[in-house]
Amino acid sequence: MAELLADHTTLRVGGPAGDWVEAGTEADLVEAVAAADERAEPVLVLGGGSNVLVADDGFAGTAVKIATRGVTADVDDDGATCGGVMVTVAAGENWEAFVGRAVERGWVGVEALSGIPGAVGATPIQNVGAYGQDVAQTIASVRVWDRKLRGVRTFANADCGFGYRHSRFKADPGRHVVLEVTFQFTQGDLGAPIAYAELARTLGVGVGERVPMADVREAVLGLRRGKGMVLDIDDHDTWSAGSFFTNPVVAPDAVPAGAPTWPAEGGVKVSAAWLIEHAGFGKGYGVQLTDGRASLSTKHTLALTNRGGASTEDLLAVAREVRAGVENAHGIRLVSEPVLVGCEL
Ligand SMILES: Cc1cc2nc3c(=O)[nH]c(=O)nc-3n(C[C@H](O)[C@H](O)[C@H](O)COP(=O)(O)OP(=O)(O)OC[C@H]3O[C@@H](n4cnc5c(N)ncnc54)[C@H](O)[C@@H]3O)c2cc1C
Repeated sequence: MAELLADHTTLRVGGPAGDWVEAGTEADLVEAVAAADERAEPVLVLGGGSNVLVADDGFAGTAVKIATRGVTADVDDDGATCGGVMVTVAAGENWEAFVGRAVERGWVGVEALSGIPGAVGATPIQNVGAYGQDVAQTIASVRVWDRKLRGVRTFANADCGFGYRHSRFKADPGRHVVLEVTFQFTQGDLGAPIAYAELARTLGVGVGERVPMADVREAVLGLRRGKGMVLDIDDHDTWSAGSFFTNPVVAPDAVPAGAPTWPAEGGVKVSAAWLIEHAGFGKGYGVQLTDGRASLSTKHTLALTNRGGASTEDLLAVAREVRAGVENAHGIRLVSEPVLVGCEL
C-alpha cells in the first residue's frame, strides 16, 4: 500500500506518495535521489515534515525520508575549553535533541532554538530562527548533494545566502539535498547574549545580558509551550507547521499604526500575528468555515492547525480567508512560511 504522507507531517495531512524511501545512510540517500532523477521522477525530500503542507492528492513521485544519524565534535568533552568547537551533524538527526545535547556540552548559540521540531538538515533551508537566534549565526558550512551538477558540494556560511527565513537552498527549491551541517560554537556555560525582549523579560534580565544556557532553554520551552509551539500529540494547537505566515518586510511608511516592528534588511519587519489579529481574526478563527476541522491555533494566531480530521483544502480555506482579510485591512499580502507541495494558497 502507498505510504500516506499525512503520517509523516506535523499537520497530519497529505495524500499518498508515489514511492517511499527511508534513507538511513548518506549513500542510500544520494542513491535514492539520483536514481529518481535518472528516471526523471519528481523527488520530495522530507525531514520531520514540520514545515510542509502536502496536497490531499499526495505526491506523484518519490518521497525520500532522511533518517541519517551522527554527531561528531572536533574536540573531546574532557578537552573542552573556551576555544570553540566544530560539530558536524547528519541531516537526519532530530534538531531538538541536538539542541539539548549542545546545551549539555556547553556549545553556545542554539539554546534559544529549543523546542523547534524537525531534522537538522532542514534548518539551513529556511534559516530556522526564534527568540533572537537563527542557525545562520552558528552554521560554518553545509554539505549537500547537488542534483543539478550531480555531485557533493560544500557551501561556507557566506555562500549560503542566509536571510530572514531564507537561504540559497530555499531560493533554488529542490536542487540541494542537505547531507550534513557543520556548526561552529564557542564553549561555555552562559548562553549567547539575549536578543529578544520577551525572552529577556521572562528571564528577568535586560536584552544583551547573558545567563546560563540551561536557563535560556527552559525559559524558551516554557514560552513556546504557552503558544502551542512544542509538539504534543494530545494538543491540537500543536498539529501545525509552526508559524503559517512569515512576518512581512515592508517600507517604513507602509507600517500600520501601532504594529510591532523589527529592523530588517530592505525595510521593516512587521508582526504578522498583529496584522492578523487587527484584521479581525482572533485565536481559533476558522472553526465555522471548516465544521471544526481546521482553525488558527487557540493559543497563537500565526499557527494554522488541524483540529482532527482536517484536509489540506480545509487548512488552505482558512489561510486564504486570513490572507485576504489582512490584505483588505492593511494592504499587506502575507506569504506562507511552510513549503506547499502540490497545492497553492
Ligand atoms: C510546532 C512547530 C513550531 C515551529 N517553530 C518554528 C520556529 O520557531 N522557527 C522556525 O524557523 N521554524 C519553526 N517551525 C517550522 C519547522 O519546524 C522548521 O522549519 C524545521 O526546520 C523543519 O524541519 P523538518 O525536518 O520538519 O523539515 P520538513 O518539513 O521535512 O521539510 C521542509 C522543507 O525542507 C526540505 N528539506 C528537509 N530536509 C532537507 C534536506 N536534508 N535537504 C534538502 N531539503 C530538505 C523539504 O523538502 C521541504 O521543502 C515549527 C514547526 C512546528 C510544527
